Amino acid sequence: MKILVTGGAGYIGSHTVRALCKAGHTPIVLDNLSCGHVESLPDGVEFIEMDIADPSLVNVLKDKGIEGIMHFAAHSQVGESMVNPAIYYENNVVGSYRLIESARKAGIKYFVFSSTAAVYGEPKVVPIKEDSELNPTNVYGRTKLMIEQMLQDYSKIYGLRYVALRYFNAAGADSSGEIGEDHTPETHLIPLILEAALGKREAITIFGTDYDTEDGTCVRDYIHVNDLASAHILSMEYLRDGGESNVFNLGSGSGFSVQSIVDTTKAVTEIDFNVIYGERRAGDPGTLIASSEKAQTVLGWKPVHSEVKQVIGDAWRWHQNHPNGYGK
Ligand code: UDP
Repeated sequence: MKILVTGGAGYIGSHTVRALCKAGHTPIVLDNLSCGHVESLPDGVEFIEMDIADPSLVNVLKDKGIEGIMHFAAHSQVGESMVNPAIYYENNVVGSYRLIESARKAGIKYFVFSSTAAVYGEPKVVPIKEDSELNPTNVYGRTKLMIEQMLQDYSKIYGLRYVALRYFNAAGADSSGEIGEDHTPETHLIPLILEAALGKREAITIFGTDYDTEDGTCVRDYIHVNDLASAHILSMEYLRDGGESNVFNLGSGSGFSVQSIVDTTKAVTEIDFNVIYGERRAGDPGTLIASSEKAQTVLGWKPVHSEVKQVIGDAWRWHQNHPNGYGK
């Protein structure tokens, strides 16, 4: 299939572009390069530098014969969204609305959307299922939920079929060590720990030690970026083969505490870096673990790279090979 990948030069997008090529599809990447890295794209993949809100996108969709859209482009930092919500409403909500409108006008039938576990907020029951209460506790999660709701209406009324994929903690890197995570500023746990291992930062601070978990630190469900990539392809093929609009969680189904991620990273890297025990970070739920049974049953998806040592080992290879990321 010919698939437009918005945000295809970003972290999860670039891994999915590689997976699409391997699976015999033709990705066309659309990215405004506000956060993405054109260096992450494989040779021969068509790249269009354009914003998702650009109304001329409708012509691109028509002229290129695009069949489906995978929509990754978004601002995705929870902390930033609470300080500067305007850019989240503009880029995520308004930008996605314009993209979805272009898709409707161009007669696109299939749409796969990057959503997030943040749409659930503080869960009452774990593992979290798709029918759990939707009660985001931050602006980022709210913008993603609004886009899901928009897609629901476009699906019902205009027949644009979609899959929304609610990721838990995306982590790891392609095992080639050629592409990986490079955010400015970096806020995610595993890359920050690896920067401590590389000596790029003096220590890693663990946010909170008084949660109601086994060792008092937060528990999260880490899912390998290449397992997310395969879920996107299965979702697009599911829609192409007649699947109805749907929502799926993507996680490994296992929870790991921040302390255990630090300990495993020390074991994988064989480096003993400094750890600081700090205060809780505002808005962090204690435990988030996915039930991904629905994706496994309906899509036939199976996470195969998400054993935590592999997640950290693959991320470590990328960070060792590229201590300054893509070099910007
Ligand atoms: N965390 C931490 N120190 C850091 C960054 C993150 O202890 O420097 C914790 C954070 O409180 C959360 C977990 O690591 O419990 C994962 O955080 P991350 O920002 O990677 O992802 P999130 O769960 O917010 O999507």
